[in-house]
Amino acid sequence: LKWDTELKSVDPQKQMLQAQLEAAEKRVKSIEEVRKSLPIYQYKEQILAAVAEHQIIIVVANTGSGKTTQLPQYLLEMFDRQAVKNASLSGKMVACTQPRRVAATSVAKRVAEEMGTKLGHKVGYSIRFEDKTSEQTRLKYMTDGMLLRELMGDPSLNSYSSVIIDEAHERSINTDILCAILKDHARANPDFRLIVSSATMNAQAFSKYFDDAPIFNVPGSTFPVHINYTVASEANYLAAAVTTLFQIHLSQPIPGDVLIFLTGEDEIEAAATNVEETIRKLGSRAPELIVCRLYSGLDSALQLKAFEPTPPGARKVILSTNIAETSVTLDGVRWVCDPGYEKQHHFDSRTGMDSLVITPISRASAAQRAGRAGRTAEGTCLRLYTKHAYYSELPESTPPEIQRANLSSVVLQLKSLGINNLIDFDFPDPPSPDVLARALEELYALGALNDGGSLTSIGRKLAEFPLNPLLAKCILEADRLGCVDEVLTIVAMLGESGALFLRPKDKRILADSARSRFSSKEGGDQLSLLNVYNSWAESDYDPMFCKENFLQYRSLVRARDVRDQLVKLCDRVEVAPSSAVSDHVAIRKSLTSGFFANAARLARDGQSYRTIKNSMTVWIHPSSTLNETRPRFVIYGELVLTTKEYMRNVMPIDPLWLNEVAPHFFKEGEIEKLGVGKKMPKGQGKVGVDGR
Ligand code: ADP
Ligand code: MG
Repeated sequence: LKWDTELKSVDPQKQMLQAQLEAAEKRVKSIEEVRKSLPIYQYKEQILAAVAEHQIIIVVANTGSGKTTQLPQYLLEMFDRQAVKNASLSGKMVACTQPRRVAATSVAKRVAEEMGTKLGHKVGYSIRFEDKTSEQTRLKYMTDGMLLRELMGDPSLNSYSSVIIDEAHERSINTDILCAILKDHARANPDFRLIVSSATMNAQAFSKYFDDAPIFNVPGSTFPVHINYTVASEANYLAAAVTTLFQIHLSQPIPGDVLIFLTGEDEIEAAATNVEETIRKLGSRAPELIVCRLYSGLDSALQLKAFEPTPPGARKVILSTNIAETSVTLDGVRWVCDPGYEKQHHFDSRTGMDSLVITPISRASAAQRAGRAGRTAEGTCLRLYTKHAYYSELPESTPPEIQRANLSSVVLQLKSLGINNLIDFDFPDPPSPDVLARALEELYALGALNDGGSLTSIGRKLAEFPLNPLLAKCILEADRLGCVDEVLTIVAMLGESGALFLRPKDKRILADSARSRFSSKEGGDQLSLLNVYNSWAESDYDPMFCKENFLQYRSLVRARDVRDQLVKLCDRVEVAPSSAVSDHVAIRKSLTSGFFANAARLARDGQSYRTIKNSMTVWIHPSSTLNETRPRFVIYGELVLTTKEYMRNVMPIDPLWLNEVAPHFFKEGEIEKLGVGKKMPKGQGKVGVDGR
């Protein structure tokens, strides 16, 4: 790969010395001393004094300053002191919210260590499908979504003395909503305290939103980072990233870890395999290179590997999603490789289409990524794009998620929190009215809202599930049709379908033929996923079964965990287990009752599809079971935009089911007009919406 300037690295002698110094410091420093050496420690008393005076403050500091690990501990100390005088505060918890699961779990582990307690005792975490807290927990790291869910159960928020909304600059939908709800909560509860913590951007806007809350700026020392750009643009950034890694590894002094930003699990796993192969080929010709992965679905033992100190003489490469941009702190990174992309949700309110798109990052993100190379010493950031592209193709900043995503989940949650008037809701940045209208329409079609826009009994049940309401609807319909067991499996598997099927380069034919043994032409990808899971269960959840069939064991384990949690949830909303092993129609109908809006019909060309609702052109993804058969009518799980709008997880349907499961969504006669043939007798189309 050609770079615009020569790769600059710190003088090896100097780097060696620096590393030895760091290591020596680490050895002698007790945890207490490490805590005291963090930039935020200098400001502890000032911050606490401000918290005593103001209900809401904003704290701004660089990544690694100690916001996430220290602020909650400071608050806990403060409230414990106050509880001596004010008994109503005693035993209350401090919550610290994170937009990302990995941040919540890894930081909770670190802080438990700092406080000398077992994880889950005094310090715990709570993320979707996993709760590691107990009666004794006083400090709770949690995803922003989990705190919102807790608010649904207990709007009084009585068990919390204070909340830290961390990583507020990320502007996740849930964080935005929490800001609004907690702002309101603070007004009614004078003892309650809120800290909004953020990396450098956006502080002014937050202060203004929170009625001119004071801003605390914690200066932090960072080291210079040299930025390199490529001379020409790179068509394949994944391959380029791996090439870059070995350029560094084989020519630059050790120590100095490398951090590579990729867009998701699939890319990370592909790159990891590629790197591991290359290491094997190089053998003893190259110094030791340790490969670490960091993404949200990864099991926690493997996650922790990225945080462990690199052994002397070796180099670590961390393949990470955006998680490593600001949410977690990695010591020892001297090299950042930034391809300049991330995965973003894009919602088109005109068509109602929600797709996950690999999108160029913003210049603000690029700066954060580069900053990761200069945390503990001078570093280098290698951008896999040209300087020209940086200025002409990267936007200044990314709009908040609430302005570019489908909002039906959020609207359902707000409604179940009793917030009915969404137009006047105090959003930090309001979503577009079109998108809100779309969400209401979708919830109405699902039977979650009545004509007046209030929650129905179905809506209340849907809100209980920590799932996209479409998926929750499939489960409720399965209850009606007697196939809950199967639909739960499919719902859990849909979340894992992205990286489930392995296709090693040299074994493609074997892998494809293994996969075809699970395929169901009649039931499409959804029923094929069910076959995979059931066969795995029959093997007694054997890892060898996965190996033989080219399946990602981790994905299946995760699907099983999610499924177990869903079974428990079903019990709570009185959905009893039921099974219809051989009744594929019941299973497919249940799925159609959630995904009816994603229905498409084969176009005249016999290749592409048109969505029934908007006549948009879409295509079956080449990886689909149905890629060759191409049935006349299908529904899909999601759209992915790469070279075309591809439908993933595609399943054949009988179009008449659409009238049956979503009578209000399609116009009178709209389905019959498609040339479906026999008409349904009047009145018979209205099943599946009882309880409205
Ligand atoms: P911030 O939230 O301001 O980005 P953190 O509170 O996450 O900063 O981190 C503060 C310091 O704590 C880091 O500089 C690092 O030295 C240490 N630290 C954080 N997480 C871990 C961890 N998992 N293992 C070891 N040290 C950690
Ligand atoms: Mg942090």
